[in-house]
Amino acid sequence: MSTLLIRNTAVLVTMDEDRHEIANGGLFIRDGWIEHVGDSRALPAHADEVVDLSGHMIIPGMVNTHHHLFQTLDRACPACQSPTLVEWLKALYPRWEKLTPADVKLATEIGLAELALSGCTTVADHHYLWPNGNRAEDQFEVADRTGLRFHLGRGFQTVGIDQGGFAPRSLTEDGDAALHDCERVVQKFHDRSRGAMRRVFIAPSSVRTVSPEYLRQSADLARRLEVGFHMHLGETLAEIDFTRQKFQCRPAELAEQLGCVGDNTWYAHGVHLDDADMAILRRHRSGICHCPCSNLILASGIAPIQRYRNAGLTIGLGVDGAASNDSSNIMAELRQAFLLSRVSTTAPLLAMTAREALEIATIGGAKLLGRDDIGRLAPGYAADFAAVRLDRLPLLGAEDPVASLVCCAIGNVDHSWVHGRRIVCDGTALNCDTGALVAQLKARAGRLLPA
Ligand SMILES: [Zn+2]
Repeated sequence: MSTLLIRNTAVLVTMDEDRHEIANGGLFIRDGWIEHVGDSRALPAHADEVVDLSGHMIIPGMVNTHHHLFQTLDRACPACQSPTLVEWLKALYPRWEKLTPADVKLATEIGLAELALSGCTTVADHHYLWPNGNRAEDQFEVADRTGLRFHLGRGFQTVGIDQGGFAPRSLTEDGDAALHDCERVVQKFHDRSRGAMRRVFIAPSSVRTVSPEYLRQSADLARRLEVGFHMHLGETLAEIDFTRQKFQCRPAELAEQLGCVGDNTWYAHGVHLDDADMAILRRHRSGICHCPCSNLILASGIAPIQRYRNAGLTIGLGVDGAASNDSSNIMAELRQAFLLSRVSTTAPLLAMTAREALEIATIGGAKLLGRDDIGRLAPGYAADFAAVRLDRLPLLGAEDPVASLVCCAIGNVDHSWVHGRRIVCDGTALNCDTGALVAQLKARAGRLLPA
C-alpha cells in the first residue's frame, strides 16, 4: 500500500463528466488509483509521498491511438519525402526489409521516450511488419522499461507486390499464420483488468494491403477474443478509387461488408468520409483516430473532425509513424489538430476549441481503446497525469492556462506519472538513457554502411 498526494496546482483539468477545472487542485492517490480529486485543502493532509505542484497545471495523461513505432529510425529520410502515400511506402519498404529486432527495440524506445516527454501516458502501436525474427515480446519489454501503458496492435499485410499490392513479399505474411500469431500474442499479453499496462488489439494494415478474406477473418477473431480491432481507413482519395474499382464501393462500405466494424473498432485517419460513411461508423459505434501531421505531410487531405464529432463519432488523437510525421510529440499533434480544424472550415461551429482538442487527446483516446480507467482525473481512475509549469517562457502572458497548453507551442511537459509512478521529472524521461540511445544509433549507422 502506498499513497501519493499531489497538491496546490494552479489548475487541475479533470476532463470529468462536467469538465471541472479546479483551482488549487490536488489528487490523493492510493496504489496508483485516484481516491480523491478536489481543492487541495479538502484532501487528506498526509501521504507516503507529497508533491507540491504550485505554479503548475495538471491534465490527464494523453492517449496516442495510432503509431508505428518501428518507423522512428526513418525520420526526415531524403528518399522518403514524396507527398503521396504509395510513393512514400515504396521508398521505405527496402529500409524496413532490413529491420532487425534490435532496430525495432531501439525505435520503440526512442518513440516512447518522446511520447512520454510530451505528456502521453498510453500508446497504441500498430505494428504490421515482422521481418528478420521481430517479435511482439521485444516491444512489450521496452514498453515495460519506459513505464507507459502499451497497447500493441498485432498487425499484418497479406497482399504483396506480386498480387497488385506495394509491399515486397518479405514484408507480407501468410494470412493463417498471421492470425495464429495474433491469437498467441493476445493470449500471452492481453491483460483485461482495469489498470492494465499491456493490451493487444488486432490490426490488419489496410484494405489495400490485406485481402478481403483476411480482413474478415481478423475482425471475426477480434470479436471472438474480445479485443480491439484497428486498421487504416479512408486515408487517401487513391484508396477510395481502389475500392471503387475493385469492389464497387467506398472503403467504409467495404469495411462494413467484411464485418470490420463494431464498438471495439477504430480506424486511423478517416480523412475522406462522406455522410453515408459517417452513418456506417455511427451505426456500429466505430471511431476515428485523427493524425493531422501525417495527413499534412503525405498531402492526404484534412479530416473534418468537428463534423465527425457533431455526428456523434468518437475521435481520438494519434501521432502516426515517425516516417510520416517525423515527430512523436503528442503535444505538438494536439496543437496541430486544433489549428487544422480552423483551416478545414469557414464555419465557426466546425472549428475546435482548445478544450475540445484536449478532450479528443484524453477521453476520446481512452474511449477508442475501450478503456474506462484512464483519460480523466476522477475517483476510481488510474493516476495517469502530466504537469506543466506555467512560468515557462512560451506561456508567459497567457491568461487562460488550459487554452495556452494547446495554443502556445510548449513542446514538452515538466512531469508525468503513469499509475502513480513518475516517468518524467523536470523535463527528463526517467527511464530513458538518451546517451545510450545515441550510442546505439551510431553503432547501427556503422552496421548499415556498405561493406
Ligand atoms: Zn498509420
